[in-house]
Amino acid sequence: MGYEELMKKITSVRKSGNGDRFEPPEVDIGQQGQKTVINAEKLLKYINRPTVHLSKFLMHELTAPGQVDSNGRIVAGGKFSRKLVQDKINLYIKTYVICRQCGSPDTKMEKQDKNDVIKCLGCGAEYPVGRVK
Ligand SMILES: [Zn+2]
Repeated sequence: MGYEELMKKITSVRKSGNGDRFEPPEVDIGQQGQKTVINAEKLLKYINRPTVHLSKFLMHELTAPGQVDSNGRIVAGGKFSRKLVQDKINLYIKTYVICRQCGSPDTKMEKQDKNDVIKCLGCGAEYPVGRVK
């Protein structure tokens, strides 16, 4: 194999090796009194998921009451550490964003009947994910 061929091979491997390079924007997590305010606007825009979906997921995981305020921030009733909230957000990304099949973050979520279905734009995989209650 010539040098050029080798370089081509390396480049193509890098291109298909996505997932590792997926760096979602940071989420701003702060505490206000007895509440935890989560500003995930940038992240949600990046992963193209509705705020209310992440909000429901977090409330379910944290078993806390919560809502989305008029500024699009998620307000959870209770004091939760930044690390805990970030862990839950990572879990959300893993469950609802990263393709199970190929690890690509380039997916979209659609409603089909009563299920949310993840569709991967990279490999074409399609699978239902549990609905957030
Ligand atoms: Zn995929």
